[in-house]
Amino acid sequence: SESQKWTAVDRYIEERLIPKDEALEKALSANRDAGLPSIDVAANQGKLLHLLARMQGAKRILEIGTLGGYSTIWLARALPADGKLVTLELEPHYAGVARRNFAHAGVDGLIEVKVGPALAQLSLMAEEGEAPFDLIFIDADKPNNPAYLGLALKLSRPGTVIIGDNVVRDGEILREDSADDRVQGIRGFFDMLAAEPGVDATAIQTVGVKGYDGFAIGIVS
Ligand code: SAM
Repeated sequence: SESQKWTAVDRYIEERLIPKDEALEKALSANRDAGLPSIDVAANQGKLLHLLARMQGAKRILEIGTLGGYSTIWLARALPADGKLVTLELEPHYAGVARRNFAHAGVDGLIEVKVGPALAQLSLMAEEGEAPFDLIFIDADKPNNPAYLGLALKLSRPGTVIIGDNVVRDGEILREDSADDRVQGIRGFFDMLAAEPGVDATAIQTVGVKGYDGFAIGIVS
């Protein structure tokens, strides 16, 4: 089937371009053992995030949606020694698993995990005058994507890169009348990007081991 082909091609890419990595594999197995859903980014997507952070020269990264920290490790490894990554997670159990994964990967010194609803954490950071981030990865509960984008902009500077994951959802985003509030969240996110003169964005459809989906990427002006 098509999806078997996408998976096989992801394997092909991974075998050639993504060296086996004990810490990343351990993170995925620790997540499985702890009962976390396997909704992390794929290896080639994790490496894309890592490369984008390096291209951006990011020293401060914000991630909304940690899960077990698989994407977080990829991003943290793009940081210089004096860099910082703040990652937000609702579930204390997930955050605990992520913290152990960070320690095992040797990146815990670069990462702050904030536990609780991301909306509250982001509002607090904005109120408290948190320094702007160089790269922001939005990958949490999709119904809140428009609100996350609004708060991400408050934590940005001209040149900040904002990335949003899962913005195609098997093409479901075409359904204006969808009863799925995640789809409506992504549609609201696109509408905001379209109306917001402060971000220049595009979105790319993807296929692979995680199915048919896509990501949006923009730069703040
Ligand atoms: N970025 C992770 C990766 O690729 O390894 C995957 C993140 S997963 C798709 C989404 C995460 O967002 C879940 O761990 C979920 O518990 C968390 N989440 C859901 N609602 C949230 C909220 N209101 N505030 C913060 N995190 C939330």
